[in-house]
Amino acid sequence: MAKYFVEAEFECKCGCGHNVKPILIDTLDVIRAELGCAITITSGARCPSHNDAVGGVPDSYHIRGLAADCVPADGDLNRLANIMRQFCPTANILIYYSSGFVHFDLGGAGRTVIMD
Ligand SMILES: [Zn+2]
Ligand SMILES: [Zn+2]
Repeated sequence: MAKYFVEAEFECKCGCGHNVKPILIDTLDVIRAELGCAITITSGARCPSHNDAVGGVPDSYHIRGLAADCVPADGDLNRLANIMRQFCPTANILIYYSSGFVHFDLGGAGRTVIMD
């Protein structure tokens, strides 16, 4: 049972009810505890049509319910990314400095990429 997050924070923004996998919520909850400040989920699960609407790639892990875009309250993207990597060696971490968020997914490739 997640301590910090509730499922509703991860539901598809179009209101369709498409939701993330519990493993993602539980993983991010542990990361949130270590971070010590709030994380806003700006995009969690996406149904295929909403993924298209926001310009997501067709095979996005958001569609599988295994990805979330995270904004740390303290704005420190590097620290958040480091904690994500520490707790989840196989996660994919994409850092978007100009937009101020970190994409986190359980895709398994263990990549950290600076996107912009
Ligand atoms: Zn949807
Ligand atoms: Zn994302």
